[in-house]
Amino acid sequence: MTFSDALSGKRGLILGVANDRSIAWGIAQVMASAGARLGFTYQGDRLERRVRPLAEKVEGEIITSCDVCDEKDVEKLFQKVDDQWGGLDFLVHSIAFADKKDLEKEYLDTGREGFLKAHDISSYSFTLLAREAAKRMTAGSSMVTMSYLGAERAMKGYNVMGVAKASLEASVRYLAADLGPRDIRVNAVSAGPIQTLSARGISGFSEIFSEVEGRAALGRGVTTEEVGNTAAFLLSPLASGITGEVIYVDGGFRMMG
Ligand code: NAD
Repeated sequence: MTFSDALSGKRGLILGVANDRSIAWGIAQVMASAGARLGFTYQGDRLERRVRPLAEKVEGEIITSCDVCDEKDVEKLFQKVDDQWGGLDFLVHSIAFADKKDLEKEYLDTGREGFLKAHDISSYSFTLLAREAAKRMTAGSSMVTMSYLGAERAMKGYNVMGVAKASLEASVRYLAADLGPRDIRVNAVSAGPIQTLSARGISGFSEIFSEVEGRAALGRGVTTEEVGNTAAFLLSPLASGITGEVIYVDGGFRMMG
């Protein structure tokens, strides 16, 4: 079976495209070239002018605003899925946020508000979307979210985002356990550092990036296309035996001594 055999005609939502550097866009391009039917969301009107032309390029069938902190927006999104598709085969969650000030000082100084906001957007939103998506899914459907090594190691400057990613990875396991009996799979891809809008908010990102190039087994960083290929594999029946996992696409950085 090839990607195209496996994914052609499958209907899925991709949340988290901000521009053409977004990891979500890398995933969308791979899924589109495999013949999947795509729905896109953007976070408010400010991002619409960037996201809409990209979504139209790959014949996005749903293109709508969705702030994951607003449950009404999420309700409206799934109403559109019901009206236009009457079901869903996959979900891509590629969303994270933390206040910049919480990525500049020590983790020790994280306040309650920043902690809760980072967890709400970067972790809880996946549980919320997974719940709504699962109601529309049948056996063989699949969900993927995006994580980072900061979930399991204390990476300088990643701070509260690392704690939120740890919560997200734990959610992947619990969601996979809940949905496994219905043959719906849930996984995360843990990507190496990539120069995106969000990554620029992390202090010392350039240092992290050059360290990865120096230490990764492959001696280089990874691309959004490489992450997209792995996400597409996990979303396809080719990965039918994999659930509750975090798959590293990091050029072999994590495993090096
Ligand atoms: P990006 O800035 O392109 O994407 C982040 C997305 O999150 C944006 O589209 C933004 O609109 C969305 N978002 C933030 N708050 C939101 C909200 N309240 N409602 C709806 N959407 C919201 O950056 P990216 O690097 O492509 O990030 C995508 C995912 O990949 C994130 O989960 C990030 O943590 C993860 N990741 C990134 C890297 C990296 O180095 N870039 C590495 C590993 C994991």
